[in-house]
Amino acid sequence: MASKRLIYMDHSATTYTKPEVVNAMLPYFTEYFGNPSSIYGIARDSKKAVDTARAQVAKALGADVDEIYFTSGGSESDNWAIKGVAYSNRKKGTHIITTQIEHHAVLHTCQFLEKEGFAVTYLPVDKYGLVDPTELERAITDKTILISIMYANNEIGTIEPITELGTIARKHNIYFHTDAVQAIGNVPINVKEQNIDLLSLSAHKFYGPKGVGALYIKKGVRIENLIHGGGQERKKRAGTENIAGIVGLGKAIEIVTADIPNHNVKIKSMRDRLLKQVLEKIPHSQLNGHPEKRLPGNFNVSFEFIEGESMLLWLDDEGICGSTGSACTSGSLEPSHVLLATGLSPEVAHGSLRLTLGDANTDQDIDYVLDVLPKVVTKLREMSPLYLKSTKEGGCNV
Ligand SMILES: *Cc1c(COP(=O)(O)O)cnc(C)c1O
Repeated sequence: MASKRLIYMDHSATTYTKPEVVNAMLPYFTEYFGNPSSIYGIARDSKKAVDTARAQVAKALGADVDEIYFTSGGSESDNWAIKGVAYSNRKKGTHIITTQIEHHAVLHTCQFLEKEGFAVTYLPVDKYGLVDPTELERAITDKTILISIMYANNEIGTIEPITELGTIARKHNIYFHTDAVQAIGNVPINVKEQNIDLLSLSAHKFYGPKGVGALYIKKGVRIENLIHGGGQERKKRAGTENIAGIVGLGKAIEIVTADIPNHNVKIKSMRDRLLKQVLEKIPHSQLNGHPEKRLPGNFNVSFEFIEGESMLLWLDDEGICGSTGSACTSGSLEPSHVLLATGLSPEVAHGSLRLTLGDANTDQDIDYVLDVLPKVVTKLREMSPLYLKSTKEGGCNV
């Protein structure tokens, strides 16, 4: 029964690394292995490679080169932005505003800071996952030092009104951080025009390598170091640079920001066809997230009466890789905090399927999913006492 096909539709979890990116990286494992802090020739080659990558990231964001700092990924960038600003500005105030739908790298960092004496407001979202700018403005106090709101949500794909939110933060003279890990390559970004003070990104979400990311820090922002040690990254982030990773990040961001409109048209048309036909073909199904203000490749649909992880196992058997907001089989009864924040019942959240398309997906992939998915949902519902009784109780006992 296991199919030889592999349909990868989990690009929000990670992407493959583009061959051009791998090729750009390879010489920095072998020929140019020097430590950029040293003074001989091959060290200078490494340093030059880091400078080039920094310029590539700066250009993609509309930032200056000396506002880009390389990190180990999105989680470190989020931790650094939030803890760094909190610790450096606590004399000014101890209040932070974020949202209920952030990635755990932001949410758990804020929860940690609550134990350290900071107060955190977790803004609610509407049924589409959108933050209301007036609610943000209402939450601001004279103790607020940082606002951290994600650019685009990793589960439901909702794109937040970042320019508007950034403008409110600037008006009140409060630092504005955005976790843009999912947005890079999908949304055109200009940190200056959008009043963004800090921005996190991660290479493996846009066809670069894993374990490398960057934090944009606007000049003049008061921020404590997260990693202490040597003088790398202009004394702000210690540790010998991940040269090959940084080269890959630079190359990848250059590629994915070169032609965002064309990329979006292609991915979105595949996603829209998948979405439309799934909602038509499969009864008791509903879209999660915003119908338009969403990442082009994001499909997130709940199927009532079934459990997401069973669905994933069956899809995996057919060669389809996706993800779910359910966590029944992994021992946690709590479904996705994002889906719950949009007002879904736990039962409907447990039946969610996220498929995130990328640039290697084809129309044939969509045809294949449209053939397999309805069958899987039907089979699971036939096995579901919930469906047979059509009650809405439980959700994990399928
Ligand atoms: C993946 C992701 C992160 C974490 O990035 P890593 O590089 O895996 O640490 C943070 N925020 C969002 C929105 C993400 O999707």
